[in-house]
Amino acid sequence: MATYKLLLLPGDGIGPEVMAEVEKVARALAAMGAARFEMERGLVGGSAYDAHGKAISEGDMALAMAADAVIFGAVGGPKWDGVPYDVRPEAGLLRLRKDLALFANLRPAICYPALADASSLKREIVEGLDIMIVRELTGGVYFGEPKEIIDLGNGQKRGIDTQVYDTFEIERIGRVAFELARKRRNKVTSSEKRNVMKSGVLWHEVITALHKREYPDVQLEHQLADALGMQLVRWPKQFDVIVTDNLFGDMLSDVAAMLTGSLGMLPSASLGAVDKVTDKRKALYEPVHGSAPDIAGKGMANPIAMIGSFAMALRYSFGLGDLADRIEKAIADTLDEGLRTADIKAGATTIVSTAQMGDAIVAKLNAAA
Ligand code: NAD
Repeated sequence: MATYKLLLLPGDGIGPEVMAEVEKVARALAAMGAARFEMERGLVGGSAYDAHGKAISEGDMALAMAADAVIFGAVGGPKWDGVPYDVRPEAGLLRLRKDLALFANLRPAICYPALADASSLKREIVEGLDIMIVRELTGGVYFGEPKEIIDLGNGQKRGIDTQVYDTFEIERIGRVAFELARKRRNKVTSSEKRNVMKSGVLWHEVITALHKREYPDVQLEHQLADALGMQLVRWPKQFDVIVTDNLFGDMLSDVAAMLTGSLGMLPSASLGAVDKVTDKRKALYEPVHGSAPDIAGKGMANPIAMIGSFAMALRYSFGLGDLADRIEKAIADTLDEGLRTADIKAGATTIVSTAQMGDAIVAKLNAAA
């Protein structure tokens, strides 16, 4: 049996609480002989600042570079609001994304039937929803130069951000989307605003050519990003994989997130390029939510987004899709039984703590083994 090297970075607030539940799941998988994990632990965010004066130490960065996957909790909180900008808690996450060259952000939006009533949309619109948003994460307007505020000298200032995409950036994110679609329902919707943006014209051109050249078996459609935002809340089940740039992906993935009910349910993956020699890719898995300082330390946090992120690591870093399926089924079965943390309490029969939810999921996993 292969051994997978994980770096666990719990971070701040509820991060350590939800990470403890991932450790339970990993131990359960090891105990049943399904997979073996070597788990290192490090500090990131405010906890790293308190220990080292930096949002992540060089030692922990080295561990992240050497790991098969980084499992990240959440960072930040009012305690660190006043720390210098370059060592603020989020800087740890940005450093990891940059140094590991994580250009593809995968955010699934899955609506468990048991939670369909927690969505702000009608049950029939969201029940059984399963879409994947693939967001380009290292380019576009968040990073393009020039990026500045200049003084025009006449009492006016000018703020400038630059949207830039090169062919290779669009091709590599497009490949991630097409490859994923082949393992799902075989459909990709590519989104930009080619009606008003030159980068959108190029995006459309490159994705169309890539499709024709390498993925003609996958169904491809294009939707303008504003129209896609509308369709996401009108009829989300029409989508399988959506691929889009950094800015539109940021917004559209938050819209898709809310279709599913609660922030505490949403996992994510950030992937780098596949190394041609080792056939491995750098990857970081994290829940979409933050450190939730309002409930930290109270045992109230929902661990499902964190456990779901670990399941994504099994699927996308280790090729253990069957184990990921088993974890996701254990989550669905636990919810079907009416167990809920406080954030998803609609329709609950039993409100449980973070640890009780983790234990219940592990029990379902063991029962199905
Ligand atoms: P948040 O996601 O931490 O919390 C928003 C709301 O959702 C809160 O009411 C919180 O209690 C609730 N919530 C979030 N996750 C939950 C869970 N697992 N279970 C139950 N309830 C949950 O966002 P925020 O309040 O805007 O930010 C708090 C801190 O987290 C800030 O310092 C922010 O900068 C940071 N943050 C970090 C990340 C990250 O680490 N990737 C992401 C977003 C925000």
